[in-house]
Amino acid sequence: MPRGRWASLTVRLDLYERLRSLAASRGATMDELLRQLVGSVEAERSEAWTRCPLCGARLKASRLERHLERVHPRRQPPASWQPPSS
Ligand SMILES: [Zn+2]
Repeated sequence: MPRGRWASLTVRLDLYERLRSLAASRGATMDELLRQLVGSVEAERSEAWTRCPLCGARLKASRLERHLERVHPRRQPPASWQPPSS
């Protein structure tokens, strides 16, 4: 557990119960759980956006493959198109 200063956080009771059971299922403390959740939100926010080479839809780079399979199952992207490097 990281050393340092502490503060309390006020949340509604139903959210507290959900966080507590999520922490228990992961074997994490509440502090560790919140760090994991904040880390995943930050990672999602920093993820690159891209455009579908077939329809131009704007989407997260990690969603592109699934978008191509679901929305354009029979079409191939142009030969000149390169998938995002991330
Ligand atoms: Zn598309």
